[in-house]
Amino acid sequence: MNSSKSIVLAVLTATLGSALLAGLIARGGAFAAPRPAKLVIISVDGLRHDYARRMKSSKRFFAAASVFEQAITTASYTPPSLCSLQTGLVPLKHGVHLMGDELGAEDALLSEILRSKGFYAEALIAVNVIVGAGLGREGAWDRWTNYTELPYKQADFVTDRALEMLERAEASRQPYYLWVHYFDPHVPFRAPDRHYDERDARPEYAAEVRFLDYELQRLLKEIDWDETIVVFTADHGWGLWLEHDYGYHYHKLYEEQIRVPLRVHVPGRAAARVTHQVRTVDVFPTVLDELGVAFAGASDGVNLFSGRVMPTYSETNFPRLVKDPELIRLHGNSALQAVRWRGLKLIYAVDDPDQSLLFDLEDDPREANPLDLRAHRREFEDLYGLLQSFGDAQTDERRLRALGSAH
Ligand SMILES: [Zn+2]
Repeated sequence: MNSSKSIVLAVLTATLGSALLAGLIARGGAFAAPRPAKLVIISVDGLRHDYARRMKSSKRFFAAASVFEQAITTASYTPPSLCSLQTGLVPLKHGVHLMGDELGAEDALLSEILRSKGFYAEALIAVNVIVGAGLGREGAWDRWTNYTELPYKQADFVTDRALEMLERAEASRQPYYLWVHYFDPHVPFRAPDRHYDERDARPEYAAEVRFLDYELQRLLKEIDWDETIVVFTADHGWGLWLEHDYGYHYHKLYEEQIRVPLRVHVPGRAAARVTHQVRTVDVFPTVLDELGVAFAGASDGVNLFSGRVMPTYSETNFPRLVKDPELIRLHGNSALQAVRWRGLKLIYAVDDPDQSLLFDLEDDPREANPLDLRAHRREFEDLYGLLQSFGDAQTDERRLRALGSAH
């Protein structure tokens, strides 16, 4: 190395920190554009993709991020979904299906991988529902804050704490990873009165989203978008008695339950609208790739920027816990698994297969007219085979061999 490069490197080491410098050198020398060394993931509990699109804070993402219009989460239930976001694994692999299940020690968290590479890592979780799942386990974070007071900490409080977290991360002078999980717009609905508009089809839910939106804008404007990868998503959607005779989450796997907002801003990547289906499980390998961090372990996801179209996996085991005879009469008590592939969607009733539902999403996007299973036996078998393979140790490439991958 010549002396002028040594001086440049010395100055950079002093100002940027060694971990960032390592990333900069890895991209081809001190004069190459550095990879981003900051990551902020913002997840929201129960935020429907259609309501998210109307949020004012979405404008910033539409202007600067890749907006994934058809993003599918792994569960209509919080613990399995958030564990997938943080491990890149479907629930069949990470093993968290219901509250009380715990991640295996062998399933690496995003924060653990990044901390091992010199990142500062902090999490701020507004609610108690994932306590015990293992996401905040020993050594996984520099600081883990999971509020357990019921019902949950509201968006104004969470944003105030998130801004403090951002300040601590900047002060650390390390690359960093911050995860914020908001709980509004989940029940109990209790947004401040000023956010209500009785003209909304569902005023209480809409008010919660408007409150979240207002608070989210305070956080987004303090993030350094030139240097930070920003991910925005939800753990699951919400039934509002609009598409189906159901209001809430975790009993069903209809689109309003499992389709979520997903936006990913990576400095240097142009804003884009992506219309093919993607999965929240893809966030994990994407952010590692974009940060330039190698990971040798398994992942069920693929890089969101690869353009690859992959089958989705979603589940809910919650119906097995239901004891109320009226709820069972209305909604059944079979665990459900869903897969979307090439315009079709199978919602498989694990404990009562005759109750399975097959939909043509292109002709019937609101899932109002299930196809006759006997008349569509081949499609049913193909999708059922895909569902089964998600529990295997097969790679995605092997999984798709029989059906042919759509690139
Ligand atoms: Zn949730």
